[in-house]
Amino acid sequence: MPRLFTLLALLAAALAAQAPAQIPAPHHLTIPPEAQASSHFDATAATNAYLASFPTPQRQRSDAYFEGGYWLTLWDFLYGAVLSLVLLATGLSAGMRDLAERITRRGPLQTLVYWAQYILVTSIAGFPLTVYEGFFREHQYGLSNQNFVSWMGDQTKELLLGLVLGGLAVAALVGIVRRLPGAWHIWGAVVSIVFVMIGALIAPVFIAPLFNDYTVLKDQRIKDSILRLARANGIPVTEVYEFNASKQSKRVSANVSGFLGTTRISLNDNLLNRCSPEAIEAVMGHEMGHFVMNHIYKGILFSTIVFTLTFTWLRRALDWSLLRWGTRWRLRGVTDVAVLPLAALLISAISLGLSPIENTFTRTQEFEADMYGLNAARQPDGEAEADLLLGEYRKLDPGSIEEWIFFDHPGGRTRIFAAMRWKAENLAPRPVE
Ligand SMILES: [Zn+2]
Repeated sequence: MPRLFTLLALLAAALAAQAPAQIPAPHHLTIPPEAQASSHFDATAATNAYLASFPTPQRQRSDAYFEGGYWLTLWDFLYGAVLSLVLLATGLSAGMRDLAERITRRGPLQTLVYWAQYILVTSIAGFPLTVYEGFFREHQYGLSNQNFVSWMGDQTKELLLGLVLGGLAVAALVGIVRRLPGAWHIWGAVVSIVFVMIGALIAPVFIAPLFNDYTVLKDQRIKDSILRLARANGIPVTEVYEFNASKQSKRVSANVSGFLGTTRISLNDNLLNRCSPEAIEAVMGHEMGHFVMNHIYKGILFSTIVFTLTFTWLRRALDWSLLRWGTRWRLRGVTDVAVLPLAALLISAISLGLSPIENTFTRTQEFEADMYGLNAARQPDGEAEADLLLGEYRKLDPGSIEEWIFFDHPGGRTRIFAAMRWKAENLAPRPVE
């Protein structure tokens, strides 16, 4: 959720002078001796050699960063829960509704006025946690390139998007609850999935460019190799985009976004500047796997199931809670917009409970894309190089239960081992009989 606190933006000008960190020049693929193709190639030894090439202090820092994220998930949930309860129990939520009703008589407009107050209050109240997580902590771990003013600029854009797009979604959902009292949970799920689909459709074209500059990939050699790979895999893209993610962070990434007509492959400039050509090919093979295996469409199908469950449980939990505390909190029932903090609290609890299942769905797709990418790009060492770079912010060697609960991508060891296993079967010379 977007957060805003304008006073601090002024204060922050002092922090604005921080120079972006240096990004290393393009480099060549380095393969540890144990991972070189040979007749005694061993996938486990090769994996261990790659992991050992990652400096220990950096590894400890990355583990601390990622494990801290587990706790932050919990603190975010608890902080949001307490905030919702305060809004309800102090009557502030009912008061914001009363104010909206004094301002306008039209139902949908009342919802929008309530929403504007709600998002402003929660953004301000949540700001300390947001600024710690999104700004100070990222700098503390050396992951951010962004000064405070620029970061606040992004936060403001997010807040405005939340105000407009979130307002439309909430107005539609409240309308459904009022008009279809018997089946609002079903229609609520349907409308939510439609909103998610519209979001996915417009995001690469209208939303992502608000935060970063997207241009066609300039490096002709890299572009040629990517387009060759695309044609070989029957992917109808004729253009590849790059974007200046280094504005915000040092993280390497690429993505396939959009669907129907807006699908596109974009690489971030950190990937282009910090990876060998082999690693870029490996990453692109992975992204093409998402494309060919229709992961976006499968994701929409999965979300439909998750939303249906969420709305069904939400309906039951809302009815139960309103019976107990509705009068005390001055809520008139489920059709009352002042119920929103309660709904937000229940939805965040349900999402927290479902997150291991959602992570596992995503992680499984990511692993599929890895397998596809290895076969398409045939760059297992490039894959290992990219996996190690991701290890700067994602724990490289998690336990299996930990991976199951918290990881939306496979851990570094899992991915590098898969690459080395592929290499053993495809590139290592066979022992002479
Ligand atoms: Zn992926």
